[in-house]
This record gives sequence, C-alpha cells and structure tokens, in this order.
Amino acid sequence: MSRSKVNTAADVNEFRIIPSSKYEFGCNDEGTPKKRLIVFEDDNQAYVRQYTDLGTTKNLWSCLNCKKNSKFNNNLFMAPTNHTCTPITYQEAIEQQNLIKAKKAPKQNVGGGGNAEESDDVQM
Ligand SMILES: [Zn+2]
Repeated sequence: MSRSKVNTAADVNEFRIIPSSKYEFGCNDEGTPKKRLIVFEDDNQAYVRQYTDLGTTKNLWSCLNCKKNSKFNNNLFMAPTNHTCTPITYQEAIEQQNLIKAKKAPKQNVGGGGNAEESDDVQM
C-alpha cells in the first residue's frame, strides 16, 4: 500500500522569505560557484543552513542536510521552516568553502624559483 500524502495548506506555507542580504552564494562540492547557498538563520546569524542547487529549470534548491526543498522567487529565497536538521555555524560553512576551493585549485608543484605561471591575459 502506498502512503498517499495529502497536500495540506500547512505544507505549503512552511517557508520563510529570505532577502538577499541574508544569504550568500558559495561553491558546491565540485567547486562550481553559485551552486550552494548559505542562508543565515533568522534568530542567530552566527548559524547558517546550506542549500544546493538541484539544477532544475524551476530553480529548486534543497537543504544539504535534510533535503528539504526550497526555491528562489526572484531574489527572495524561500527557505523551508520545517527542517529536521540542525544549523551549522557560519564559520563551518566558510571552512567548507575554503576546503572546496583548496581542492579545486590546480595542484602544481612549483619547483625551483622560476615563476612559470601563465601571464595575466589582460585584454584591451
Ligand atoms: Zn535542513
């Protein structure tokens, strides 16, 4: 027997609206920018929850921890309020970002003293 889920009004309204000043973008695990969203908690901005872009045309995102769905409505982020996960500190989120960026950075063994880096390709 399949358990049918009734779409009650309570389900629909369990979002809070996050203005762009209360979230910031980060990289996902693959290091792709703007595929992760770091959203500050309402009551304590030392804490955040993170969302990942599901890559759908409907601009759906999902909580990294408990997979609750959320979405963008123009620049407003509709964050679910019924998380089953607990927020992490902003510090942790930033450390994760740093780790991702460190992983993504090309690992080059710079031997000797010569700077063999590509020169900046400034156009114009
Ligand atoms: Zn969650």
